[in-house]
Amino acid sequence: GLPIICLIGRPNVGKSTLFNRLSHSRQALVSDFAGLTRDRQYAKVLLNDDTQTFTTIIDTGGFTNKVNLVDSGIQDQILSALEESDVIYFILNSRDGVISLDLEIASHLRRLKKNIILVCNKAEGLNPTLTTEFFELGLGKPILISAEHGQGIDNLINTTLPLL
Ligand code: GDP
Ligand code: MG
Repeated sequence: GLPIICLIGRPNVGKSTLFNRLSHSRQALVSDFAGLTRDRQYAKVLLNDDTQTFTTIIDTGGFTNKVNLVDSGIQDQILSALEESDVIYFILNSRDGVISLDLEIASHLRRLKKNIILVCNKAEGLNPTLTTEFFELGLGKPILISAEHGQGIDNLINTTLPLL
């Protein structure tokens, strides 16, 4: 099948907005309310026109900020999405910095032997030098994007292509 990219991160960081941006759709519900995306959403996305590189992207959700990933385990649907993926986009909110739930997700992701790209969303108008704390997650160089305003998406795609 096609290579799979999975979008993961705590609620409200903009996973569904990025999913819709990449898939040129409004398939995934975007909401200010945490935990709205209950089921996995799939879309087939043409990442590179020249090489005709298609991928399947998966929007995850279904866990609320009340769920502690360490205590209760990550939910089955998210776990299986992670397991089948070739690249994981770990989405964070640039404006919030790294919070404890991000650290829990990061420690889970580090144990998977997968390609992980740190995606710092909501970065429109943000000074790029303010991202040192994201480096400290030990998951590589953060890619700054604005899913809502369509900024940094080409950079994200160009970072992804060699990993597929
Ligand atoms: P999810 O829970 O991670 O799927 O997050 P959503 O995609 O539903 O987005 C949560 C909220 O963040 C919504 O109000 C979005 O409009 C907003 N949002 C998403 N991307 C951006 C962005 O790039 N910049 C800003 N300022 N807000 C965003
Ligand atoms: Mg969502």
